[in-house]
Amino acid sequence: MEKIILTGDRPTGRLHIGHYVGSLRGRVQLQNSGEYDKVFIMIADAQALTDNFDNPDKVRSNILQVTLDYLSCGIDPKKTNVFIQSQIPELPELTQFYLNLVTVSRLERNPTIKSEIQMRGFDRAIPAGFLCYPVSQAADITFCKATTVPVGEDQIPMLEQAREIVRTFNRIYGETLVEPEILLPENEASLRLPGTDGKAKMSKSLGNCIYLSDEPEVIKQKIMTMYTDPLHIQVSDPGHIEGNTVFTYLDAFCRPDDFERFLPEYANLDELKAHYQKGGLGDVKVKRFLNAIMQDTLGEIRARRKEYEKDLDYVYDVLVEGTKVAREAGKETMADVKRAMKIDYFDNTDWLKL
Ligand code: ATP
Ligand code: MG
Repeated sequence: MEKIILTGDRPTGRLHIGHYVGSLRGRVQLQNSGEYDKVFIMIADAQALTDNFDNPDKVRSNILQVTLDYLSCGIDPKKTNVFIQSQIPELPELTQFYLNLVTVSRLERNPTIKSEIQMRGFDRAIPAGFLCYPVSQAADITFCKATTVPVGEDQIPMLEQAREIVRTFNRIYGETLVEPEILLPENEASLRLPGTDGKAKMSKSLGNCIYLSDEPEVIKQKIMTMYTDPLHIQVSDPGHIEGNTVFTYLDAFCRPDDFERFLPEYANLDELKAHYQKGGLGDVKVKRFLNAIMQDTLGEIRARRKEYEKDLDYVYDVLVEGTKVAREAGKETMADVKRAMKIDYFDNTDWLKL
């Protein structure tokens, strides 16, 4: 069986460092590993419209921003097909059939949906399209027969839902769809990177993000005002590591050689943490270290972005070509699905008899 990757992002804003550690960094490694036959990255505009239907300009303008973020992080269009969800008509077509295979109560029990409904203040006025987006996400994953889905932890319930739909489909209509595996980041801090305010998840919708394209001064300012340990008031006070966003970011971003380059008094992160916990290490010093690392990582990404910004024709071509390849995959799977569901009337006329 071919090994195929499918993953994606909602064009609701520029991408942030949560996306980077939760999914994007891993995608680049997987893309370059040579282990996958095909890699698809989807810009989920139709999904973004389920809760931004009244703001089409936001979704439209962020197609370009998200594509620029991909390219600047090292997504290579020679190896990865970047495509736009709404341009693949097979996706809503599959969604329509999958909707018969799930119950409303099952959708209402989806923990990610539950917390997103609360976060968006939908209460009882939940758009039906929003409630059903896990089903359309199952279509997104299965339309190209994806085997592997590299995402952050918030996507676990979506993958579980998709796997259930695949199993139900195959049981009723015969082995047709591929059951996808989730691939979570190995680094624990990257599973669900908190926002700079210490809130559960860095999210475009919560305004607690460091964006990949932020300018150096903005990054510095966000880091220097970040949430740490509220009990660590004097430098001499013992500090807490758990729930301390600065240390969580260090866990996600710090590489072994960063100490030699930016903070040679310490051999590694364990030493730095131990000193903080004992007392005598100030937040400002730790934040400066984090800032040096972030400036280094994001500086490279920003520089590449500036290059791609000069060649928007190229960016356009990347999307046209990626969408073409995705469309072909969609047509193939749709033919299999229609055959399995016995709605391939004009390809097989065995029904045309009395
Ligand atoms: P929105 O607020 O519009 O939902 P978002 O910031 O949650 O936006 P998505 O486009 O929903 O971003 O998520 C894209 C991918 O990034 C998913 O794989 C998701 O798991 C991952 N991701 C998003 N936020 C984080 C985070 N804070 N930590 C780790 N991974 C994340
Ligand atoms: Mg999200």
